[in-house]
Amino acid sequence: MSQQFHGVGVTPGRVVGRVRQMPAPVWEPHAQVDIPAGVTAESEAERIRAASKAVQAELKARAAATAGDARGVLEATALMAADPMLVKGAVKLLDPAGDGGPRTAERAVWESGAAVAERLRGLGGYMAERAADVLDVRSRIVAELRGLPAPGIPVSDTPFILAAEDLAPADTATLDPARVIALITSGGGPQSHTAILARALGLPAVVAAEGVDRIEDGTEVYVDGAAGRVTTEPGPAEADAARAWATQSATLAQFAGDSRLADGHPVPLLANVGTGKDAAAAAAAGAEGVGLLRTEFCFLDRDTEPTIAEQVEAYGAVFAQFPHKKVVIRTLDAGADKPLPFLTNADEPNPALGVRGYRTDRTTPGVLARQLEAIAAAEAEHDADVWVMAPMIATAEEAAAFTEMARDAGLKTAGVMVEVPSAALTASHVLAHADFASLGTNDLTQYAMAADRMLGPLAALNDPWQPAVLKLIKATCDGADEAALATGTAKPVGVCGEAAADPALAVVLVGLGVTTLSMSPRALAGVAAVLATVTVADAQRLAAQALAAPSAQAARDTARAHLPILDKLGL
Ligand code: PEP
Ligand code: MG
Repeated sequence: MSQQFHGVGVTPGRVVGRVRQMPAPVWEPHAQVDIPAGVTAESEAERIRAASKAVQAELKARAAATAGDARGVLEATALMAADPMLVKGAVKLLDPAGDGGPRTAERAVWESGAAVAERLRGLGGYMAERAADVLDVRSRIVAELRGLPAPGIPVSDTPFILAAEDLAPADTATLDPARVIALITSGGGPQSHTAILARALGLPAVVAAEGVDRIEDGTEVYVDGAAGRVTTEPGPAEADAARAWATQSATLAQFAGDSRLADGHPVPLLANVGTGKDAAAAAAAGAEGVGLLRTEFCFLDRDTEPTIAEQVEAYGAVFAQFPHKKVVIRTLDAGADKPLPFLTNADEPNPALGVRGYRTDRTTPGVLARQLEAIAAAEAEHDADVWVMAPMIATAEEAAAFTEMARDAGLKTAGVMVEVPSAALTASHVLAHADFASLGTNDLTQYAMAADRMLGPLAALNDPWQPAVLKLIKATCDGADEAALATGTAKPVGVCGEAAADPALAVVLVGLGVTTLSMSPRALAGVAAVLATVTVADAQRLAAQALAAPSAQAARDTARAHLPILDKLGL
């Protein structure tokens, strides 16, 4: 009998395929086990050598079949599988008279891997970063010794739908979008690693769909990434929908730039980027500029503050991709889900409510001023129209202090992110100082709903269609209008949270008064296609209806019911 699983759709797309489950993580072998009769140190050593060779051969074969950055990652991992420190170290530990007594091959590999990783960490810098790779290889050898599938993304000659509880960032390097045609997870929320990865790759995905991690390997399912639905035993209707999507998705991959509503009203569509490489991809995808450069993404692997020269280079690489176009650069948003050791305190009991974003200027003064100096220096070297903004602004005083600092650094357009409800509710005062606002709907939703954005079980609360969130967005746009009247200067309000990438919500946002939308480049064409079917008056009507809805589901349903194009395009 056909079974349905309901979750949160994070990337649109309709596909039919067979499920492959992500293998379970490798558990630590017990230290105290009775070594069975007939098993000797020599026979265990032989098993270790054979397992290490098998893992190396498997990784080499995968590297040969892989292109791009992932190939290098796999080749390096293959070398590590035969690393004498790891393998000989494990064999040495098997000596029954040695330190700690006899061990199984699995336990010896586990301990040896831990010791090598520890040594690498002690060396610091680049070597320390290899510790995680050694632990990955260790897990692979232990899985091989147990006769279990290797951890990580399954290998398959035929395309498949990857099912998991959730994906770790380390799983993502080897995910090949030509093989994995959709992602479905029982855990994770709309901001989980799975969701972020799926959006970046444009893979249809459903998260927080309880039970999908128990679907048997090889089962055929239909995934509707827009509706957030997974169905087993798909019939002819699902097969037709998947076929139609295959043709449409090619069209939806093309964004021509210059996004406009049906009445010609422009709604520039910008890209969210983290690095120069992302920016190059965004420019190639037709983005009309950058609406959010997450500068902390340039330095996530750093435990010390980057120098001004390093920052100038990193930001300049983004500016260079968008000559004469707008690039909104955000100052470091360290903290909570994006800790930076040189700015954040790992011991805070409640990091999302802690010293993060702009607030770090209180505890670590100097870093922000140097960053603004670097941004101004990078701007001077390029032709991009650079706008700067601070994350996590909560009050008009903070907006005034930040914009003054930015102007002192020589930056002409200084604004704030509105992602704390207090800033939305006092937008007219905030925007009396700031030149513009950018709504960070990811955090605005988590703070309005008091629901951690990373948690799968809270996904339904963490929904930007929630009436409370829509009201905060409206309050921000109204506050911006008031500030514009009072100051005689336009105060544009953009959206750079994930909400902008939902084509139905994009229409509502425009109707609420938002002037630009920034998103993952993959979402540009779909959003543009839907915006092109409505006028400003249509968008305003839909916004009023969504705003009056009693629940997130009702708001979404009302808007979608008036946008038949969504169903036609499978969005
Ligand atoms: C947001 O909060 O919506 C946002 C865009 O910022 P980040 O996701 O980086 O916190
Ligand atoms: Mg945020």
